[in-house]
Amino acid sequence: MNAKVWLVGAGPGDPELLTLKAVKALNQAEVVMIDDLVNPAVLEHCPGARIVSVGKRGGCRSTPQDFIHRLMLRYARQGKCVVRLKGGDPCIFGRGSEEADWLSAHGIEVELVNGITAGLAGATTCGIPLTLRGVARGVTLVTAHTQDDSPLNWQALVQSGTTLVVYMGVAKLPEIQAGLLAGGMNADTPVAMIENASLPGQRELRSSLLTMEHDAIAFALKSPAILVIGAVAAVDVQAYLPLARQA
Ligand code: SAH
Repeated sequence: MNAKVWLVGAGPGDPELLTLKAVKALNQAEVVMIDDLVNPAVLEHCPGARIVSVGKRGGCRSTPQDFIHRLMLRYARQGKCVVRLKGGDPCIFGRGSEEADWLSAHGIEVELVNGITAGLAGATTCGIPLTLRGVARGVTLVTAHTQDDSPLNWQALVQSGTTLVVYMGVAKLPEIQAGLLAGGMNADTPVAMIENASLPGQRELRSSLLTMEHDAIAFALKSPAILVIGAVAAVDVQAYLPLARQA
């Protein structure tokens, strides 16, 4: 059998949000290489596996990507069943495709397993519907943190009229706020910020485009957090808090 690596999404944190396929892959794993954002509680599904932490949080001590590639290759070539476990979904701001490409180029078979991405889970845990008939006809997942620090096209994002779900935004709140205001978004557009979505320490803050930075500072918002920007960010279907309809 060819050497194979499973690139698996661990979901946002809550172990019950793992897919059955992820659990199956973990059950079979001999080596599990995990990122920082993976909740260690999910490792109950691979009690016999060797766990290798290769996390790299922005601004913290980091494991070079090249090292991760080579380590996966080494274990795979030893014939081990390797699971590369990433927070959320492996291909949503998770470098899953880069790792898959690299492994394929080295003759290793790769299988991707979806995870529930933090943006979707964050919204749902607060009762926010990311799309809403007649209100939000789409959703855009966007990172505030670009590799070359090039600015986002804020105006295009505003004009898209979609709900914006921003990843890696905590350190970029002033830029996000200024960019969206300059791009023509209404200052009173609702904003929800969800920290540690689906984890026991989850916190959520409802604000508006105009006050988001100020409110986030007062709240001491910390990473990892998701921002949901758009009319739906004022909704909480679980608390019967519907969208304020225009009179
Ligand atoms: N592949 C991951 C995203 C990795 S990028 C996924 O699909 O979810 C890292 C960013 O994801 C963080 O900066 C934060 O914006 C978001 N994130 C990841 N886990 C989170 C969580 N439990 N709660 C809130 N945001 C989270």
